[in-house]
Amino acid sequence: MKTAKAATGKTPAAIVWLRQDLRLADNPALQAACRHGGPVVPVFVWAPEEEGAWPPGSASRWWLHQSLEQLAAACDTAGSELVIRRGSSIAELRRVAKAAGANAVFWNRRYQPAALARDRQVEEALRTAGLQTESHNGALLHEPWTIQNKSGRPFQVFTPFWRTCLNSGEPAAPLPAPRMLMPPSRRPTSLPLMVLGLEAAHSWTDGLRAAWHPGSVGANAELRRFLRQDLESYDEGRNRPDQPGTSRLSAHLHFGEISPRQVWHAVKGFAESRSLPAAVWRRWQFLTELGWREFAHHLLFHFPHTPEQPLRPEFAGFPWRKNSTWLRAWQRGRTGYPLVDAGMRELWSTGWMHNRIRMVAASFLVKNLLIPWQEGARWFWDTLVDADLANNTLGWQWTAGCGADAAPFFRIFNPVNQGAKFDPNGGYVRRWVPELARLPAAWMHRPWETPPSVLATAGVELGRTYPRPIVSPFISRELALEAYQRMRRKPRIAGHQSPAD
Ligand code: FAD
Repeated sequence: MKTAKAATGKTPAAIVWLRQDLRLADNPALQAACRHGGPVVPVFVWAPEEEGAWPPGSASRWWLHQSLEQLAAACDTAGSELVIRRGSSIAELRRVAKAAGANAVFWNRRYQPAALARDRQVEEALRTAGLQTESHNGALLHEPWTIQNKSGRPFQVFTPFWRTCLNSGEPAAPLPAPRMLMPPSRRPTSLPLMVLGLEAAHSWTDGLRAAWHPGSVGANAELRRFLRQDLESYDEGRNRPDQPGTSRLSAHLHFGEISPRQVWHAVKGFAESRSLPAAVWRRWQFLTELGWREFAHHLLFHFPHTPEQPLRPEFAGFPWRKNSTWLRAWQRGRTGYPLVDAGMRELWSTGWMHNRIRMVAASFLVKNLLIPWQEGARWFWDTLVDADLANNTLGWQWTAGCGADAAPFFRIFNPVNQGAKFDPNGGYVRRWVPELARLPAAWMHRPWETPPSVLATAGVELGRTYPRPIVSPFISRELALEAYQRMRRKPRIAGHQSPAD
């Protein structure tokens, strides 16, 4: 490396390998590449086969396409074009390094099992090829191995985990975006984005396009909107799917268009502008939700089998059912339970579902239909724009009762009561299940109990315009509890043991 510098009198180029950190501001790997002192070559390699069993799903691919488009424009403006490649990460990074005369590769770390294994191989191969490599934390407030319980083990309960995070110091202030990126004198070839085939060629994406503005500009606009309108009322607002009470930052955070540090410090700035002491705002529920994101990554890192296997091994013997007709009805929002159906249709149309409804819909699948949580996790994986292996795994295992700090299995969300409580005027159902729009609010969440005259006035004909419930809430609840008892009576089968066992 020193020889190359001495021979040309110039610092060789550095590659910044971008993955789930599609932003220029607060990007530690990009800053490190700039500090290298020479040209900076931003590179994205599309390598879905390196993601193990979890290559990005359809909605994520759509988002990724838009996000890369935005990132490419930002790189152009900064002075060094984004190089897009497809194929093996090792081979492509080596090719780009050769073409650009680069001697170093920088990246921000990822924590999913397949990505971790791949990144280790990349590091070894690049070093063997004589390239300098360096990785950074660009995705989390606290990396998984930095937070431990008193016995030096990973946490499995959220509250002490987050307390430990909060006590381990303020996240560093976000880094500014580099003012300019020096381009290499020889620009490596780059594929047109379209060639990656990320955008599905059908009208399904129209709903996604209408709902979202992927990219850092969209992420920062969403954050400003949230701070201005919803942060102060978040504690109540976050439970109302009929109102825009949450930040809608999940996909932006997943793709790294905005970093959790940027969000943390924006909240801090907001609180300080109102002279609120740290002891108050650091406990805000919104920051606690960022804490759940941290916890999810902590769990995935320490228990890498959990996207497929329950964290609590006794659940490996749960007597789940296979029923493709019910699964299909759930996926398409045709279960006959308006709140569940509204959520599943919101997901299909926009690639996102409100957190409260994710819990209700997931609970319905695993506890009322007794369909394995992994089936639900797969469907979410394909249809969510924010599909995230850590958060999705935590969400499903939490709901199914088989994960860390999970809801007990016997706590079964009742879609009728949840609807009455969190969608009291029926506005959410009216929006996503238009065939029920004319039902009075009092009947909105239980059309099967609605008097025939009321149904007729609302133009609802059960079994024709809207399905009857595919299962009875009471019977399915009893069956679920019975299945749970059967699992508990089974002798514990050998399986994954958690390190904390
Ligand atoms: P806000 O309420 O504004 O929260 C701010 C941020 O905190 C979110 O953007 C997200 O990054 C994080 N966050 C909030 N709640 C959680 C949580 N429970 N667990 C982890 N992080 C959280 N979230 C995903 O990002 N990707 C997923 O694939 C995903 N799958 C889920 C599956 C199920 C079954 C459940 C119950 C939850 C899932 N969640 C997932 C968590 C949560 O529903 C979403 O993060 C949230 O609805 C996103 O909306 P928001 O950005 O407006 O959240």
